[in-house]
Amino acid sequence: MHGLYSGGVSKSMTPKIIAEQAPLKGLHLVGTADILNEKWIRLIKEQLVEIDDGLLQYKNGTRFILQTEVEDNRRVHHILLIPSFSKVYELRERFKNKSSDLDKDGRPKLRLSAEEIAEISTEAECLIGPSHAFTPWTAIFKEYDSISDCYGDYSDKVYFLELGLSADTNMADKISELHRLTFLSNSDGHSPWPNKLGREFNTFMVKEINFEEIKRAIKREGGRKCMLNVGFNPLEGKYHKTRCIGCLTFFEPNDAKRLNWRCPICGKPIKKGVDFRINELADLPEGKHPEHRPPYVHIIPLSEIIALATKKANAWSISVQEKWKTFVSAFGSEINVLLNAKIDELEKIDAEIARYIQYFRDDKIKYIPGGAGVYGKLVPPNKELPKLKRFDSIQKKLGDY
Ligand code: ZN
Repeated sequence: MHGLYSGGVSKSMTPKIIAEQAPLKGLHLVGTADILNEKWIRLIKEQLVEIDDGLLQYKNGTRFILQTEVEDNRRVHHILLIPSFSKVYELRERFKNKSSDLDKDGRPKLRLSAEEIAEISTEAECLIGPSHAFTPWTAIFKEYDSISDCYGDYSDKVYFLELGLSADTNMADKISELHRLTFLSNSDGHSPWPNKLGREFNTFMVKEINFEEIKRAIKREGGRKCMLNVGFNPLEGKYHKTRCIGCLTFFEPNDAKRLNWRCPICGKPIKKGVDFRINELADLPEGKHPEHRPPYVHIIPLSEIIALATKKANAWSISVQEKWKTFVSAFGSEINVLLNAKIDELEKIDAEIARYIQYFRDDKIKYIPGGAGVYGKLVPPNKELPKLKRFDSIQKKLGDY
C-alpha cells in the first residue's frame, strides 16, 4: 500500500489508522509502505512500537514489516521488502544521489535501472520483485518481455511477483518463466477503508510473523510457503481489458494494434489490457501450474457487496459503512463474513445482503470488465449486463464475459 505522503493517497493513510483497520479485515501483517521517506519513517516510529529489529507492532497486535515501492529509470515499479531499519538507512544512502524526490514522495523515482536497483537491494539483504506486473503504465511487462530482460544478472535474486488486481494465478501461470516465482496478491491500497485495505491478501505458512519468516515463505524454504492468494476477479481490475483512456470504448486487441493504439473515436491512446498482454507472453495453456502454486480465491470487498445489495452507487456511502460495521462486529472480521459465516446467521442481520453474500460465494455476481484505469463494475445475477461501448469494426462479441 502507500502512505499519505505518496501522490493520490488518502490523508487518512497513517500507520495508526491502517493498524486499527487491519483486524477488521482479518489481516495480521501489513507492509509499512513508503519506508524510504524520511517523514513517513518518523510517523511509523511515532505511532508503532519496534518490537524486534525491523518488526513493528501497534497496540492491537497488528504487525508491520519494512517495505516500499520504487520506480526505476524506465518507469517500472518494484517492491522491496527490507529486513531492518539499518538496511533502510543504507538504501537511503545509496539512493539519495539517484533521486530528487526521495523525501518528497512515498514512492521515489530512482535514476537507476532495474538491474542496478536489484543489485543494491540484494546487497542490502532485501527481497525485490515487480509490482502489479502486467499493468500498462508502470509495470515490468509494459517495458520488457521477461524477468531476465528486466533484472539482468540479478534475475535469479527475484523470488516473487505481484499479480496486481487485473490478473490472477490462472492468467500469470500461462507464462512458464514465472513458474519458479511466488505470486503475491497485495492490495496496493491508497486509502485505509475496508474496500481498499486488504482487498487482496496472502496467507502464509510461517512459524512467527516477521521478515525472516516471510522471506523464507516467499523463497519456499523449510516448509514455509504461501498457502493461498486472495484477490479480485481480474475482470474487476482497472486494467483488465483493452480500452481507450479517453472515451472508454472497449477494443478487440487486434483492432487496437491495427489502429496503432490510437482511438479513432476520440483520438486518445488505447491502453493494452492485462488479459491481452499476458496472452502475448503466454507459452502455456491455462490451467498448467507448478506443484508449489497455492489456490487463488476471488473475492469481492464486503462493502461493495453491500452497496450492490442495497442499490447504493458507492461503497463509501454512510449507510453501506454502517451495515459493514454491523456485520463485521457480529462476525469478527470481513473475511469471516465473506467466507466462513453461515448464511442463516448472516440473514439475522440483513436477509437481502445475506442473499448477495450467497451470490458471491456461488460465483453468480457478474462483472462489467475494467480497463484503461477504470475499475470493473459488479452487476447482480438477475440483471442483464448493460450494452458496452465498443469499437465494432468487426461484428464480434466483446469476449468471454
Ligand atoms: Zn476514445
